[in-house]
Amino acid sequence: MENKNINKILVANRGEIAIRIFRACTELNIRTVAIYSTEDSGSYHRYKADEAYLVGKGKKPIDAYLDIEGILEIAKANDVDAIHPGYGFLSENAEFARRCQEEGIVFIGPKVEHLEVFGDKAKAREAAINANIPVVPGTDGPVQTLEEAQQFADEHGFPVMIKAVLGGGGRGMRIVRSKQGLKDAYERAKSEAKATFGQDDIYVEKYLEKPRHIEVQILADSEGNTVHLLERDCSVQRRHQKVVEIAPSRFLSDSVRSAIHEAAVKLMDSVDYLNAGTVEFLVTPDEQFYFIEVNPRVQVEHTITELITGVDIVQSQILIAQGHNLFDAPVSIPKQEDVRANGFAIQCRVTTEDPANQFMPDTGKIMAYRTGGGFGVRLDAGNGYQGAVITPHYDSLLVKVSTYALTFEAAASKMLRNLREFRIRGIKTNIAFLENVVTHPAFLNGSVDTTFIDATPELFV
Ligand code: ADP
Repeated sequence: MENKNINKILVANRGEIAIRIFRACTELNIRTVAIYSTEDSGSYHRYKADEAYLVGKGKKPIDAYLDIEGILEIAKANDVDAIHPGYGFLSENAEFARRCQEEGIVFIGPKVEHLEVFGDKAKAREAAINANIPVVPGTDGPVQTLEEAQQFADEHGFPVMIKAVLGGGGRGMRIVRSKQGLKDAYERAKSEAKATFGQDDIYVEKYLEKPRHIEVQILADSEGNTVHLLERDCSVQRRHQKVVEIAPSRFLSDSVRSAIHEAAVKLMDSVDYLNAGTVEFLVTPDEQFYFIEVNPRVQVEHTITELITGVDIVQSQILIAQGHNLFDAPVSIPKQEDVRANGFAIQCRVTTEDPANQFMPDTGKIMAYRTGGGFGVRLDAGNGYQGAVITPHYDSLLVKVSTYALTFEAAASKMLRNLREFRIRGIKTNIAFLENVVTHPAFLNGSVDTTFIDATPELFV
């Protein structure tokens, strides 16, 4: 395939991921363009790009970053060759990818058809079933009536989980443990799905008890090469949202680990996938694994895979979008048989949330900001500096702290040392809570599943 020339990239995002992408671009000698909302006029990402433009004037804070036509106008007016959508916002929006294509701007991500399939949990399940990948037992597509949901529960038994077809970010899911609770949960799930995702399609699947969340990082080029970069264990979650991630997983038998990698590659190959994506699975205590979804974009926790494999995933995304082959320069990632985990990496998501008050997001000015650092430490921050004002308008991720070492124990000890070195004043953070997590015996001995945080009250300071 002919290589496309990319000299200037606009990042249609904000915060830490925008800065992460600017850094990748600058190292590749590509000029960077930021967009920022009125509320983000003082945000750090604005100043970390070569050029920056106000977007979505008069729109609500979130909507500014969803202003497809406004973003494209800025791109066209400023000779932008490609747009990187980051995660969240427009990253999984097929319409946005299509509009980029129409305007002759490269969308750094998969093809439109992949966003259409994987943005819809029911279609994604179907793709997995077609590729012979085990999925959590569930209804064939969305359920139309309460009776259909009831029928599934009768056949498979409780507990079940009701999920919004368009759900994401841990939202739009409800566990139902008994027949009595089904009607209420069904109705609530439907109205919540409508309110949150603009569409009320829901489906029902079996709720798995105490699973681990294991996901496989994929890179695929336009010549049909697909490589996985091993797995991440994201079982440390609060209310189905990831809090601490580990790469590689510590407790998978070699055969199941390989089977999961193979399943992920097979699924992505079956849809002729392009660019970076993650295939997510749940693994039961007896090591049965089930596909749950694909995230067709860069993920928050891509950092730890980079640390253990040495592959720069964001730069790979850009180079793949330019049409390069995975194995040739300048991408030059290892051949599959040479991809190895060189040690262990852990990532903690430091947020401006108050663990003593049900993780309520805090707002205000950061009066002091000092971080950890040193050998084997990586910090990816958004507005992490003294004087920054944290507003209530956007998600509360402040800085991702990742540590890397040859053993898990050393990476965990480095994490604790780093968390303890932080001094953040003027705004509440979840750091004390994270310290409790990474020193908890269950975390250290690896026996954690996705229910760990919610079932362990002593973690909450
Ligand atoms: P989202 O797109 O909102 O991230 P996912 O489908 O990826 O939703 O699921 C997020 C988390 O929810 C999983 O990691 C797991 O903890 C929990 N979960 C999802 N489906 C099930 C299930 N069928 N059984 C048990 N837990 C589940």
